[in-house]
Order: sequence, then C-alpha cells, then structure tokens
Amino acid sequence: MSRISERSRISLKVSAIQESATLAVDAKAKALQAAGEPVIGFGAGEPDFPTPAHIVEAAAAAAHDPSTHKYSPAAGLPKLREAIAAKTLRDSGFACTAGQVLVTNGGKHAIYNACQVLLDPGDEVLLPAPYWTSYPEMIALGGGVTVALPTTAADGFRVTVDQLEAARTDRTKAMFFVSPSNPTGAVYPPEEVAAIGEWALGHGIWVLTDEIYEHLTFRGHDAVSMPTLVPGLVDQCVILNGVAKTYAMTGWRVGWMIGPDDVIKAATNLQSHSTSNVGNVAQRAALAAVSGDLVAVGEMRDAFERRGDTMYSMLSAIDGVTCLEPEGAFYCFPSFEGVLGREIAGSTPRTSLELCEVFLEAAKVAVVPGEAFGAPGYARLSFALGDDDLVEGVGRIAKLLA
Ligand code: GLU
Repeated sequence: MSRISERSRISLKVSAIQESATLAVDAKAKALQAAGEPVIGFGAGEPDFPTPAHIVEAAAAAAHDPSTHKYSPAAGLPKLREAIAAKTLRDSGFACTAGQVLVTNGGKHAIYNACQVLLDPGDEVLLPAPYWTSYPEMIALGGGVTVALPTTAADGFRVTVDQLEAARTDRTKAMFFVSPSNPTGAVYPPEEVAAIGEWALGHGIWVLTDEIYEHLTFRGHDAVSMPTLVPGLVDQCVILNGVAKTYAMTGWRVGWMIGPDDVIKAATNLQSHSTSNVGNVAQRAALAAVSGDLVAVGEMRDAFERRGDTMYSMLSAIDGVTCLEPEGAFYCFPSFEGVLGREIAGSTPRTSLELCEVFLEAAKVAVVPGEAFGAPGYARLSFALGDDDLVEGVGRIAKLLA
C-alpha cells in the first residue's frame, strides 16, 4: 500500500480554499456556449470590447523583438514601472517612484503577493462585505484570518469607521478597501475615504486599496485614492491595480502593486522565486496602455454607464428584486430575497445559490450567487457584456420571475 495515503495528499492550507466562483461560473457559461447552448454569461467581470488596436500593435511589435524573448527583471520592465508611476500620478494624484512599483501577473497576483508579504498566522484582516470572492482565500493563504464586516444596500454597501472600530483587536493587521466596489458597484465619497484612512493611520493598520475600477465611475461619482487624501498613510498602504478592466485586457495578465520600499522589495523577492518576470510581450502591451491617452477608456466607460442604467432599470422592475443603482465598476448586485421560496420553473429555490442554478437551467443565464461574496440572498450580474445580450439575459430572468 502506498505510504502516501498515510498523510493528506493536498496541503491543509490549499485544501481549505474553494474554487473561484466567478471563474467557475464564467467557465461553465463559456463551455455551454461552446457546446451550442444559448447561454448568456453575467459571470466574470470581463469587458466585451477588444483591447484597443494600438496596444495590440505594440504587443505584436514586441513579439518580433528578440529582447522580449529573454528573462527580464522580476520586478517588471523598468520602463513599465516608470510609466505606471507616471500614470498613477496622472490618474489619481498619488506620487511614487518607479522603485515602489512591482509588476505582477494580473491584479489578482498583486493582492496575493500583498497578503503573503504582510500577514503572519493569526493576523486579522478587516474585510467589508459583500467582498470579492478571492479576498478571503488570499487572506487565508497568507495565514491571516478574515473578519468580515457586513454592509447592506440600505448603507449604500459602505463600511463605516464605527464598524471598523468595533471589529478592531490587537491582532488587526490590515483592512481591504475597494471603491468602486466589486461586487456591489458602490463608490465611497471622499470624506468617507478620508475618515477611514485617518482611522487606519491612527491605529497602525495597513490598508490594501484595490483601485482596479478607478476609471469606471458613473453619474458624478468619482474614485479617490485613499493615500492622496491621507498622505501619512503612505508607509502603511499598498495600492493594487492593473490594466484588465480599464483597457479591456483581462487575458493579458498585467497588474501591479505600489507600496513602501520594504514591501516592494519583499514582494519582489517572493516573485523572484515564484513567477519571475511577467511575460515581456504582455508587459510591452501594458506599457502602450498606461502611457497612452484615456480616449478608448472614456468610450468604454460611457458604454458601461448606459448598460448599467439598462440593467438597473430592468432588475428594479422585477417584483421581489431590489437593487442599488450602480455608481461604479460594472456590476449590479440585486437582492433576490423577495423571490426566494417562490415556485420558479418547477422548483422552489430557498437560497441565492439554488436560484442561480435555476437561472442557468431554466433561462440559460449565468449569474454569480451572493454566497460567493459573503452575501447570501443577493447575486452579482456583470454588465460588461454587449447591450443586446444584456437585455436578452435580464429579460429572461424577468420572464422567469414574472
Ligand atoms: N474580477 C473579475 C470578477 O470578479 C474577474 C474574474 C475573477 O478573477 O474573479 O469577475
């Protein structure tokens, strides 16, 4: 008998995490579509636009340049690190040096690195809920303990300083801050961002601020970068960002983290033993993206705003469904609590998880259940897909729930 069976085959650490629900729903929808099923995917937040042509052309030229065929510095191409520092100053007003930027394999990898570098076993991380599905797993992989702070549509899905303070203990090491928010679409006003930043500064708590949706804000809401409002926070703050959402570059996998020198040095060491450099062709594409203008970004933002309006109106018109009007990112996060327990297409879903299964089976619509975001009763629908599919898909949900 194999001696391997005497111990657990998979480490306890990795056994304890779940598959990414957003990627799982997306993969299922894409597999069904490939098999000819008329599925509409509201799963992963992925712009339907192609990457702007000048970015693709820069990548094509880079692929023909033999220098891209070799290893490059683990922390990222020096020109890209400089361009990210310049773009950050241009877009959010946060000043940093190229040395404070680490280029990562997508925004997700930046978050993973930050958790690995900052957390020790038992460190508590305050996480406003509903939260993006991967944060708690990344906290756990870093040895940390998630302390979820629930918010509701009635609070605008925004955590307060009082809530943070009530959850603070002597093990609190860090907090996540995300505005515009995935999955809720909420955007914090500057005074609330400043108040949270002052609180974190006063208590020596690290802020991991995810700014990946910075350019996607609607109807007068604006994203502000916390350390620009609370400059003292600079030594205990990590900014997380990437090209995926702003430039329709989800598949290119280029993100970055910006932080104090010691954090960036530690994360670079980690990366030097794990991924080495991010693919050079993708980095050169990202260089073209961040050094270029924001014209294409503005056009995409306008389309998202229009689609968000459509989705919000259609969802709000369904009896039993309530929804916060999206302020940013590209998600609606409606509550379906009013329809749970009703008979729908021959079954009686009692949870949002079961309801989303019914949506897929009976309406061929893929939606991520709120359970994946620490918010049972809700579900997340991305409005980054095309207008016609959006109307057709939400229409199918409305018909099913009529
Ligand atoms: N951030 C996107 C989402 O939430 C991409 C998919 C993922 O990596 O989770 O859908």
